Amino acid sequence: MTTLSSAQSRDISYQLHSYTNAVTHQKIGPRIIERGEGIYVYDDQGNKYLEAMAGLWSVAVGFGEPRLVEAATRQMQKLPYYHTFTHKSHTPSIELAEKLVNYTQGRMSTAFFTNSGSEANDTVVKLVWYYNNALGRTQKKKIIARKRGYHGVTVASASMTGLPGNHRDFDLPLPQIKHTSCPHLYREGLPGETEEDFATRMANDLEALILEEGPDTVAAFIGEPVMGAGGVILPPDSYWAKIQAVCRKYDLLVIADEVITGFGRLGTRFGSDAFGIEPDIMVLSKQLTSSYQPLAAVMLSRPVADVISNHSGTLGTFGHGYTTSGHPVATAVAIENLNIIEERGLVENAATTGAIMQSGLRELADHPLVGEVRGMGLIAGIELVADKASKRPFDPLGKMGAAVYERAHQNGLIVRGIQDTVAFCPPLIITPEQVGDMIARFRKTLDEVHKNQPA
Ligand code: PMP
Repeated sequence: MTTLSSAQSRDISYQLHSYTNAVTHQKIGPRIIERGEGIYVYDDQGNKYLEAMAGLWSVAVGFGEPRLVEAATRQMQKLPYYHTFTHKSHTPSIELAEKLVNYTQGRMSTAFFTNSGSEANDTVVKLVWYYNNALGRTQKKKIIARKRGYHGVTVASASMTGLPGNHRDFDLPLPQIKHTSCPHLYREGLPGETEEDFATRMANDLEALILEEGPDTVAAFIGEPVMGAGGVILPPDSYWAKIQAVCRKYDLLVIADEVITGFGRLGTRFGSDAFGIEPDIMVLSKQLTSSYQPLAAVMLSRPVADVISNHSGTLGTFGHGYTTSGHPVATAVAIENLNIIEERGLVENAATTGAIMQSGLRELADHPLVGEVRGMGLIAGIELVADKASKRPFDPLGKMGAAVYERAHQNGLIVRGIQDTVAFCPPLIITPEQVGDMIARFRKTLDEVHKNQPA
């Protein structure tokens, strides 16, 4: 059985963290995770957990992968650090940029490296502004994101994030960032509305917002192909085509935030492939290094990259970059990680084992606590409701998700509660047998929580 004694035995007051439950405000954890192997992690009490969230949607190749340790060690010994300023570079960052361009099958031409997804999205905002200044369109600066989207927590990224908790009391969002509707049919659909009609309405909402703001002032649209941290939300099949048509009509750049969906999560190389998105800019992170090293990449299509590099040539400088942009150890690890993803066919595994996970989880749709089961490839969300027929949520929202999250630990399972949606995003190496085990542990958890509910 899991205990919280590890949390009680460590003084956690030296770090600024949120260790309180959002609903009850009770102090919880932290559980101290000490080591990992494959799809499992172990805490400092010796408890073993099936890590059904791959950490934070990120450990594609599993924990304890020796090839990544070796790649990091080799690079540490050869050149532990160098930068990419003052006309210098180093081999790992050059090779990774080329590998990524090839991996996008030429749709993107140029990479810019940062340390995190948030910094990458912040960079995107600056590049969109820089791009439009280069084109003399000095008014065209607003960026439209979506309610419940997640793009990170730096000033501009948090502004694009569409979650109130990331704005409240941080004086965000910035005035240049606007939010349009969230494409979640189950929650946002009107009575009797078809998926197709809903997708059309979402595109109409976007168009109305652009017209209200003035098309000459709107520069770009950003979205995750499938929303992650907002609750694993899949748009209707035709959503992206309709959104993209509106973007093209008003000359908006299309930015695909592929921080979670990049490198196989949906059973395709990119989420853009799954939904027919033709992005001008792509943002990659997490599974890029399996999060063994902090690294993200902003990928630019040729036309965007050309405008930006020509403009910086005119100005005589490109005044943007980080001390550790393209860090040699991080980029060396990314190269090896992508090699493993290719050699072991992990994108294909996300499609085949993902299909098994999706159908297995859908068998829980009849459970009294379950409102909606949604997902694609190796990512899924199960929304828990107080009343299935009316979709009435629990009150207070988030309490049931927290209860399931907590109880799952007792059954050796790490999931995530996003309000009352339970998220699954296991490492891409997961096998069909392990998927079966994961679902069995979750079903047991749901039954136990259901049984213990006050009448
Ligand atoms: N974009 C998306 C889609 C994400 O899921 C995340 C992280 N969950 C980010 C951006 C931010 O990345 P980071 O936490 O590395 O700043």
